[in-house]
Amino acid sequence: MTARTHDLAAFTAWGYVILAQPVRSVSLATALVGLLANQLGGIAPDIDQPTAPLWRNLPLGKIFGKTFDKLIGGHRFLTHSLLGMAIFGYLALGLLNLVHPIMPHVEVHIVWYAFMIGMLSHLVLDTFTKEGVPWLLPIPIKFGLPPFKAWRITTGKIVEQALFVLILVVDIWYGSAHYNQLVTVFRHIKH
Ligand SMILES: [Zn+2]
Repeated sequence: MTARTHDLAAFTAWGYVILAQPVRSVSLATALVGLLANQLGGIAPDIDQPTAPLWRNLPLGKIFGKTFDKLIGGHRFLTHSLLGMAIFGYLALGLLNLVHPIMPHVEVHIVWYAFMIGMLSHLVLDTFTKEGVPWLLPIPIKFGLPPFKAWRITTGKIVEQALFVLILVVDIWYGSAHYNQLVTVFRHIKH
C-alpha cells in the first residue's frame, strides 16, 4: 500500500477507537502529538524500504535506507510482524518517557496507543496486498487475505485507489453519523 492509504487508515483506526470509548478530557498537546504519533505509526513499518519517506528526506538517506533494509531482512520482514510491533512499541515508549520532561502536558500513554494503533492498521492493510505480511515471525510465513493471491490488492493500482476513496467515504459518513459525539470529543480538549 502507498503511504497515503496508510496515513488515512491509521487516522481512521485511531478515530474509531476514540469514538468507541467514553469521552475523556485530554490536553491539546496530547491531541496534537497523538495525531503525529498515529501518522508516524501508520508508516513506520515501511521504514524497511530504501525509498521510504524518512530515508528520502534525509541527507545520505538512500545509503542508510539500503543498509537498514539489509539489516532487518528486507522489505515486509521484521517491521511487518507482531515481533516488530513489540520492538517498535518498546522503543517508542522509551523515547516518549525520555522526552516527557520537556513535554509535560503530553499524556505519554495516549500518544503511545496512537502510535501502536497506527502501526497495527498498517499491518492489517498490508495483509490485503499480494505480498502478504509475516505476522508471526520468526515463523517465516506470509499471511494474506483473501487466501488466494490473485484476489489481493496490488500496491498503487486502481483497487488500492478505490479502497482509499471507499475509506474516505465511510469516514465522512461515520463522522456525520456521530457528529454530536465528535463535537463532544473536541470540547474535551483542554489547554
Ligand atoms: Zn508496509
